[in-house]
Amino acid sequence: MGQDDTEMASTPLEEVHGKIAKMCKIARREPDDVTLIAVSKTHPPEKIIPLLDQGHRVFGENRVQEAQGKWPALREKYPDVELHLIGQLQSNKAEDAVDLFDCIHGLDRLSLLKALAKAMDKTGRRVPCFVQVNIGEEEQKGGCAIADLPDMIAKARDAGIPIAGLMCLPPAGIEPSPFFALLHKLAHDNSLEGLSMGMSGDYETAVQLGATHVRVGTALFGERG
Ligand SMILES: *Cc1c(COP(=O)(O)O)cnc(C)c1O
Repeated sequence: MGQDDTEMASTPLEEVHGKIAKMCKIARREPDDVTLIAVSKTHPPEKIIPLLDQGHRVFGENRVQEAQGKWPALREKYPDVELHLIGQLQSNKAEDAVDLFDCIHGLDRLSLLKALAKAMDKTGRRVPCFVQVNIGEEEQKGGCAIADLPDMIAKARDAGIPIAGLMCLPPAGIEPSPFFALLHKLAHDNSLEGLSMGMSGDYETAVQLGATHVRVGTALFGERG
């Protein structure tokens, strides 16, 4: 009997964890240093509950309103859920976001920085934020310009916003490795530990290049409708 025959059918969650572990071994990293954020945007609770029942607790959503509709009920049953906001955040939703989320990945402009600082002062919740970097210097894309990064980090610190690290979405359709490597360098230059990078198509590469948080949706839940 070949080794393949003895392997039990594994769940997508186990497969993704397995690939992360493999990449960590190659890169001589500890798998515990990589947080898998299961991106459940657009998916209903019926699809999320199986992951919760397998023990997974870290999830990502990209819209405040959608998350407000889904997660309070799920959290009653699974109170130790850790919820990450991974998408663009409008300043007028900053307080709702600070109330609901445990981490915010899209701090990308000074107006939002001010809104988040105000919301954190008001609610007393200090929610760690990743500064989103426009790593490919794309005009149409959100994210702090690389040149503005030190100023953004300094202003966030002054405003009492805990900075978890840097986040990026590399340009579509081209090899992401150079952008992941650049984000790693920028984090190092600014003495930041966290690196939120890598999605279903490229999280293995991102782990090799130092990602501490990978944001994986499709590989766990299937295609979004
Ligand atoms: C949707 C989304 C993801 C997950 O994408 P998949 O390709 O489904 O893994 C990751 N990061 C951000 C910012 C997203 O909006």
